[in-house]
Amino acid sequence: MSTEQNNQNKNKPGAPKKFNFYWIYGLIAVILIGFQFFPFQGKPVELKNIDKFKTEMLQQGDVNRVVVINKEFAEIYIKEDKLTEEPYKTDKVPEKGPQYTWTIGSTETFERQLAEWQQGGADKPITVSYETRHNVLLNLLSYLLPIILILAIWIFIMRRVTGGGGMGGGGQIFNIGKSKANLYDKDTKVNVTFNDVAGLDEAKEEVMEVVDFLKNPKKYTSLGGKIPKGVLLVGSPGTGKTLLAKAMAGEAQVPFFSISGSDFVEMFVGVGASRVRDLFRQAREKAPCVIFIDEIDAIGRARGKNMIQSNDERENTLNQLLVEMDGFGTDKGVIILAATNRPDVLDPALLRPGRFDRQISIDKPDLAGREQIFKVHLKPIKVAPDLDAHKLALQTPGFAGADIANVCNEAALIAARRGKKFVEMQDFNDAVDRVIGGLEKKNKLISQDEKKIVAYHEAGHAICGWYLEHADPLVKVSIVPRGIAALGYAQYLPKEQYLYTTEQLTDMMCMTLGGRAAEDIIFGRISTGAQNDLERITKMAYAMITIYGMNERIGNISFNDPQQDYRFSKPYSEQMAQAIDEEVKKMIANAYNRTKVLLNEKKPQLEIIAKELLDKEIIFKADMERLIGQRPFEEKHAEVEVKADAIVFEEEKTAE
Ligand code: ADP
Ligand code: ZN
Repeated sequence: MSTEQNNQNKNKPGAPKKFNFYWIYGLIAVILIGFQFFPFQGKPVELKNIDKFKTEMLQQGDVNRVVVINKEFAEIYIKEDKLTEEPYKTDKVPEKGPQYTWTIGSTETFERQLAEWQQGGADKPITVSYETRHNVLLNLLSYLLPIILILAIWIFIMRRVTGGGGMGGGGQIFNIGKSKANLYDKDTKVNVTFNDVAGLDEAKEEVMEVVDFLKNPKKYTSLGGKIPKGVLLVGSPGTGKTLLAKAMAGEAQVPFFSISGSDFVEMFVGVGASRVRDLFRQAREKAPCVIFIDEIDAIGRARGKNMIQSNDERENTLNQLLVEMDGFGTDKGVIILAATNRPDVLDPALLRPGRFDRQISIDKPDLAGREQIFKVHLKPIKVAPDLDAHKLALQTPGFAGADIANVCNEAALIAARRGKKFVEMQDFNDAVDRVIGGLEKKNKLISQDEKKIVAYHEAGHAICGWYLEHADPLVKVSIVPRGIAALGYAQYLPKEQYLYTTEQLTDMMCMTLGGRAAEDIIFGRISTGAQNDLERITKMAYAMITIYGMNERIGNISFNDPQQDYRFSKPYSEQMAQAIDEEVKKMIANAYNRTKVLLNEKKPQLEIIAKELLDKEIIFKADMERLIGQRPFEEKHAEVEVKADAIVFEEEKTAE
């Protein structure tokens, strides 16, 4: 969720103006305190001098009775008929007793004294009674304080748990089962419009169609069509799904509930389900309206098939969501929009007809899309007049919208640091580099020997790519250390394609092995620098054999396992497992041999490129052409640059 949305919290939906009864507690407290300090009758007079009691009151036989309170002080009651006499008149004692109080030393002394003083007194000895009296307020407090403390701690924890930081109001704690959706309706200002969403024209259209469904359902149902209940936005992170939904909220003119899937998930059992219920209750009240659930995979993950991984709370939440979606007809005018970047892990039940039966896929932007996104994000930036968004788009294959926004921001910061008036191309270039590989580590200490290894390693990749027909074309090779992990990288432009042949995959595998093979050939020993490469080809080899059926011995079999259900029970025998492992090993060994043969053959070129790299640190495709001639298969990729939509980085770990 973005900060923009957080700001909308003020407009929390469905929190009907609650009658606030907290002031009652305050009132009660004030009254109690009032009783303490202002009794309705006059206060007894405090005796300063006990002689007065002894000589005047006792001896005259005025004293009715004495009550010792809490063994601390004595209350003296004067006979009513004596009250009109002195000294009571001047003392202005209260009519109702006690008339005097006196702080006593100890009960024993007091009793003894009293007996002494009364000796020879007029009539029968006066009675002394004892009372223990509690201070109501103090007592109440001593009972309540621990409870209040516990409550306070509980509230504190709850706030932590529910993450409901700055919402204010003491009612939070009672809202744990309430949905945390933000509501945008006519009165809410959403300052995102479709103009802020570059590209994605088809997605925009489809999304608007959904709104149109809501507004004119007759138009569609009269022809017998069915209005979809749920629409799923599918796309990689940062491609603008949330942005699109927000823009829809801004343009739709219907109430729009926005919530993230993770907001449902709570450590308490049953909370998620109750939040779902609450959300739909609110939505039904506001219909026609749209519910947007971001990151729906947080609740929509397939319900576990094995016991070890099951997560009851999440499953309850998901079940409740399914129940709610089935529970209302499309005529109720509630459409659910959800976003995910992992459609593969979603529970199939969610995708069944009558639920999320429509999918809008949001791809990473192509060249034209990137140019438009650049234009959107360049608007608030003071750029040099000659800055070319098209060039920027060319340099950023595979960047998602969020990365482009990031580049623009970085560029502005870099230019500011350099004290420029405008942001120039150079700043953007540096920003792109920074976004690609993390911060450039200018003073990272890397020994000359290490640098040489990295140079030959990267040159190995570059040469393999250059001379393998199906490898992706190179953009640039760099041995400038970046970030904490990468010592160098080679950047390629993959073709836009969804089907790969065995030849292509094999070439990719060889190219990935090129780094290690080059180290092996040149230095006769290998380093840990190839760890990332090896990880990738291992995955690739397993995928080719167990998913794509590209191995003769294993055959046309696929054990695709996106939800990792096979982790504890594999759907094949031990023998098969062994055969797979052997074939993977063989496949990688073959690829490695092929790579070594190729690099041995092109060793002179390898040397040239590695030396150039050591010299210049970064070399581009043009440098390669200048040094070792045109790539023999270039024509095949002539159009690629325009259509590139993905990027491959090489990240290599330092030897530690
Ligand atoms: P997602 O929800 O798909 O992960 P977001 O919608 O949160 O991605 O996108 C993050 C940011 O990237 C947006 O706030 C916006 O600045 C930028 N962005 C992404 N796609 C686009 C786009 N098509 N046009 C303009 N900006 C975009
Ligand atoms: Zn490598």
